[in-house]
Amino acid sequence: MRANLSALRYPGERSTLVGTLLLVGVILLISAAPTLLLLPLAVGLTLAFSYSRTREHHQQLLRNALAVTPASAAGVDALVQDCRGRLGAEAVQVFAVRSRQLNAYTFGLQAPRVVVLYSALFERMDADELRFIIGHELGHVVLGHTWLNTLVGGMAGLPTSFGGAVLLTLALRGWSRACEYSADRAGLAACGSLNKATSALVKLVSAGRSPQELERALRAVEAEDDSLLNVLAESLSTHPMIVRRIEQMRRFAASPEFQRMAG
Ligand SMILES: [Zn+2]
Repeated sequence: MRANLSALRYPGERSTLVGTLLLVGVILLISAAPTLLLLPLAVGLTLAFSYSRTREHHQQLLRNALAVTPASAAGVDALVQDCRGRLGAEAVQVFAVRSRQLNAYTFGLQAPRVVVLYSALFERMDADELRFIIGHELGHVVLGHTWLNTLVGGMAGLPTSFGGAVLLTLALRGWSRACEYSADRAGLAACGSLNKATSALVKLVSAGRSPQELERALRAVEAEDDSLLNVLAESLSTHPMIVRRIEQMRRFAASPEFQRMAG
């Protein structure tokens, strides 16, 4: 028996190799001649690599996930359209992925951007909490985080001095956390209820924990909010601590801007 070689090759193998080689080339070029002239080239190649990776991920979703449409998932689709209307968001492609994890994310360099919702969300969250989750992701879309994240995230890999790399990483993580606060505001605007937005966030951190465990965990987090260890841990993380996210949402909910939106 002779196996068909092209059938054996995993679809993503070639593009991953080409992308990796390109990236290695960029790194070699930059470390050999650290000149600003190469920066545009590096950015271009980073974008090209992200573009092909994004496309591949999209195709994988088309094969393995449920595309949310009025016909396939009317309830979820209605929630998405409702949130889009409230946020003035462009059309997006929404996929539901079967998973026991509570998670959602968005990606895409050009329209329509893709929003991915994990199926466990539909079991654990009510309609308003789902509006918060969907609104949060649409917030990343309307605020331009999706393509910026791809571009800027790629820049973090650019070889610089060690100190430069640390600074760049810390700066990007800080930016990423800022984006989360903004997206939470969008989520709050989409669901219109601080209580529901808060319970959605609490459910995200509490996945798989008993109510008692959760209460203990939340109390511990709150008590250690400003400990040095927490401040350090947060400065390395892409997401702010949940208590801070809730606190920021509370402030936004009390602001005149939000009152005007809600009214
Ligand atoms: Zn987010």
